[in-house]
Amino acid sequence: AATILYGKDIAQDIRAELANEVEELKKQGVVPGLTVILVGDDPASHSYVRGKERGCQEVGIRSEVIRKDASISEAELLDMIHQLNGNPNVHGILVQLPLPPHISEKAVIEAIAPEKDVDGFHPLNVGNMMIGYDTLLPCTPHGIVELIKRTGTPIAGRHAVVIGRSNIVGKPVSFLLQQENATVTMCHSRTVDLAAHTRQADILVVAAGKPHLIGREHVKPGAVVIDVGVNRIETGKLVGDVKFDEVREVAGFLTPVPGGVGPMTITMLLKNTVAAARKQTAR
Ligand code: NAD
Repeated sequence: AATILYGKDIAQDIRAELANEVEELKKQGVVPGLTVILVGDDPASHSYVRGKERGCQEVGIRSEVIRKDASISEAELLDMIHQLNGNPNVHGILVQLPLPPHISEKAVIEAIAPEKDVDGFHPLNVGNMMIGYDTLLPCTPHGIVELIKRTGTPIAGRHAVVIGRSNIVGKPVSFLLQQENATVTMCHSRTVDLAAHTRQADILVVAAGKPHLIGREHVKPGAVVIDVGVNRIETGKLVGDVKFDEVREVAGFLTPVPGGVGPMTITMLLKNTVAAARKQTAR
């Protein structure tokens, strides 16, 4: 049976390391600061933002959440971002997505100064990541790679199969795994015979947003299975994309939902904020 990969516990270890780093920075007169802008009243977004605030508190990052009504204009939002770009006490800026339809997410992401883009969504940071330059990495993909590393499983030379090709999970995680010298296969909604691909995977990253997509027949015995999916089913329960009870019988490692990838995502946001503060205050 699989070892369950409690991202929560691993995240806790990394947060303890970050808290020490923040303390060191504070001794040098630097207080890392994160500002989150939250537009509208989507309950999931509000819950994610609360998690981010709690994470900041835990490691000593000064955090501020600006909550705005869904009626805010794009111009007003862009103006707020420009102000924050120029504020030396704010090292990280995060605009919680999704935004209301009258606001262009592209315009908002591109307005954030790349060095303050702690989500790693700005095209400049995406490009740097793809080239393999040192840059602010997107949090979920970065958290996934950290989780895999902490299993002690070598990534180099292994076959990693990624399900999903979104800009926030699938595509960037495939780049990061290639950077770690994995051989990477990308699967998506148009892939023919998904199981034929996934059964080859030493490392299987599932980010489709489809409950129960992956069963035991999709998994090679002993594989590392990372379930990124977060789906609320009819009962109100949160489930991943993987049939947990079935796959834990065959996998070597498996992440639970919740308590797997989610806490790692927030932890990588904290890590980015500390890194951004360090970089912006370096003489
Ligand atoms: P998305 O909807 O943008 O992309 C889903 C991808 O899955 C698409 O590329 C699509 O081609 C592929 N796909 C859909 N159905 C498929 C199928 N039947 N077979 C193969 N591929 C299929 O979603 P996203 O933003 O990448 O998020 C994916 C999931 O991860 C969602 O459940 C989301 O809530 C979750 N998520 C979790 C975290 C976290 O921190 N835990 C962060 C981001 C996203």
